[in-house]
Amino acid sequence: MLIMTLIVLLFVIVVNNSSVANDPTDSLVDAVMANASKLVYSDGTFSWNNIDLYKRGVYCSVYSIDGTELVGAFPSEEHFTLDFRSGMVRSITVDGAKYLVFDIYTDYEGGGVWIRGIISPYDQSEIIKELLALTYTLLPVLIVFSIVGGWLVACSAFRPVEKIVNSADSISSGSDLSARIKLKRGPSEMKHLAAAFNRMLERLEQSFEAEKNFTSAASHELRTPITVILAECDRAKRKCSTKEDFLESVNAIEYQSRNMGELVQQMLSLSRLQYGAEKYPMRVSSLSEFIDACTDEFFIDNDKSITIRKEIAPDVSAKYNPDLFSRVIMNLLQNAYKYGNENGNITVKLSADKAKNYAVLCVQDDGIGISEENLDKIWLRFWQADPSRGVSGGSGLGLALVKEITDLHNGTVAVESTEGVGSTFTVSIPMK
Ligand code: ADP
Repeated sequence: MLIMTLIVLLFVIVVNNSSVANDPTDSLVDAVMANASKLVYSDGTFSWNNIDLYKRGVYCSVYSIDGTELVGAFPSEEHFTLDFRSGMVRSITVDGAKYLVFDIYTDYEGGGVWIRGIISPYDQSEIIKELLALTYTLLPVLIVFSIVGGWLVACSAFRPVEKIVNSADSISSGSDLSARIKLKRGPSEMKHLAAAFNRMLERLEQSFEAEKNFTSAASHELRTPITVILAECDRAKRKCSTKEDFLESVNAIEYQSRNMGELVQQMLSLSRLQYGAEKYPMRVSSLSEFIDACTDEFFIDNDKSITIRKEIAPDVSAKYNPDLFSRVIMNLLQNAYKYGNENGNITVKLSADKAKNYAVLCVQDDGIGISEENLDKIWLRFWQADPSRGVSGGSGLGLALVKEITDLHNGTVAVESTEGVGSTFTVSIPMK
């Protein structure tokens, strides 16, 4: 504002100086004399085609010797009727307006003409003088107004920012992540900013909550095997008198350690998947052969004498990470085996859904099944059905991992189950 004001001020001063420097009397006389020299007289007649009827505020007109107007321009609509006086600048007032008048008589052999110049001195310098006076008084006021106004506008624009900063400060210092920034009034940009902050806080709150739940569930899960291990150690030290007693305790410790190892492994895989800590290269290869091999490998030990059926369509290929996808197959088979009946049946099916271009893997068992109200919960981390169902082992992370891995493969996972009848888990991933 200050720079703009100074430029305008400079401009006004320059214009004013140049017009003041041009004295109106001089301009008037110069213009009339110039026009007199431009008059052409030939063959007894005057020609005034070259003269300037208006130039730099001076109006010029040409009269015959008897005072008849031949050509001319005037500052007002009324043409002056004023007697001629050659070579003399006169000041007159017409309808309250001041003018300077200068006449000159040009004499030639055959006669002569009057050239009259009229200038309004008021037009030239008075207006600019007044303009300058106005500028000198108005500009400082304008500057003060713009400074005060700008300051007020900036203050009101930054008030919501201050509010956001205060709210963010109070949230971070109070460790209450459920608090939100409330901005009722303010420009829409600030409301958007506050909304973005709130969304960020919501995500933070969710991830802190998930982290808290995960940690407390993990420590709860680890506490049981550790308690068992400590108790077995204590028993071995105090009560085991024979080698057999001692081996029994070692076996119990080994079993619990294996469970803990599996739990830690599952937790690690889950967090790596969730935070993208590792790259899992995907490659296109035969899913039929892979599932066949995994199933054979899993059922090397089949203590429950379960009958395995394989209905694996040949030549089904997909883009997958073998390390990860083997965990999907193993976890589903492990559950089908764990929750399946002695001498029961497990069917492993692989088919190609050509319409949707999906490879579909089904693992079906006729075991204890899952009650309807628990069907949604089985995908949650650390969730296990009532332990009174008598199946020991497991961490409650197996299916959460299956879901996470399937998501990574842009696939879907679903379950159909009836309590006491059996369950079918279906995993679909896009084919090659
Ligand atoms: P877990 O380590 O307990 O098997 P999972 O995440 O693999 O953990 O499974 C979660 C729960 O879902 C299990 O505790 C079990 O109650 C239920 N479940 C999973 N698969 C089956 C199945 N094939 N039949 C019956 N219940 C199952």
